[in-house]
Amino acid sequence: MEQDCIFCKIAAGEIEAEMVHEEEDVVAFKDINGQAPVHVLVIPRQHVPNLEAIGQLPDAVAKRLFEVSSEVAEKLGVDESGYAVRINNGPDAGQEVFHLHLHVMGGRKMGMP
Ligand code: 5GP
Ligand code: ZN
Repeated sequence: MEQDCIFCKIAAGEIEAEMVHEEEDVVAFKDINGQAPVHVLVIPRQHVPNLEAIGQLPDAVAKRLFEVSSEVAEKLGVDESGYAVRINNGPDAGQEVFHLHLHVMGGRKMGMP
């Protein structure tokens, strides 16, 4: 666990979040500032800061991030209407939290920015 990482603390249950899915290596919770009717963040429990570090995750965990994204979309009823899965990586993408996370967003038309 990385000191002062808000998502490490959410994964450890030290900070509250509205959990959508929890398993051994991956958790999903609602974004505190949702930008769409469905806006969930899917994270590995292991701290990795960004996509450049994804190789630090076991392959199966990296794969689970995508599978859980799909499962969350199904659970929240946007699998048929569709949804966007987005990673903000680095300054130009506006990355604010340096613990790798996938945004799963749906329930409205999700255009490209
Ligand atoms: P990004 O780093 O991908 O640009 O954005 C980080 C996302 O995390 C934002 O959408 C923000 O609303 C969300 N976020 C930041 N702090 C918290 C928190 O404490 N709890 C939850 N549930 N979401 C958070
Ligand atoms: Zn972290």
